[in-house]
Amino acid sequence: MTSTDTTTAGKETSKPTPQMEGTTKEFYDFCQKKELRFQCCSNCKQWRHVPRLMCAECGSWEWQWLRSSGRGKVFTWTVVERPMHPDFVEDVPYAPVVIELEEGVRMVSWLSNCDPHEITRGMPVEVEFDAVSEQLTLPKFKRRNNPL
Ligand SMILES: [Zn+2]
Repeated sequence: MTSTDTTTAGKETSKPTPQMEGTTKEFYDFCQKKELRFQCCSNCKQWRHVPRLMCAECGSWEWQWLRSSGRGKVFTWTVVERPMHPDFVEDVPYAPVVIELEEGVRMVSWLSNCDPHEITRGMPVEVEFDAVSEQLTLPKFKRRNNPL
């Protein structure tokens, strides 16, 4: 770590963080409450992620934040051996994964309990929440041993 800030009380992250505004902030506010929620179009019932104001399917501006089961499977991934950002040096090798949730939405995340070289397509996973700072909780995923 290169941080020289010794006055910080509590856990903080030096990694890049999402810009907390608008629907993005709403998404992460739910994560802070340990709720994984996605927008669902009030008109055509299509779930969507990343958060946005208009439905790409039907053009409606009306939506609800509906709670996800938190269960899904690995859709795809890559293994990072050389970090592209200095704050990830201690994490290599790591695997950014694309998770496909039961509701059909896909999101980029992180698998916490699986060696990056053991990841397989379709591996069943479930959400867990990582409070990386007092302001930010990230949805991450862990391998599910019982796929039911
Ligand atoms: Zn729609």
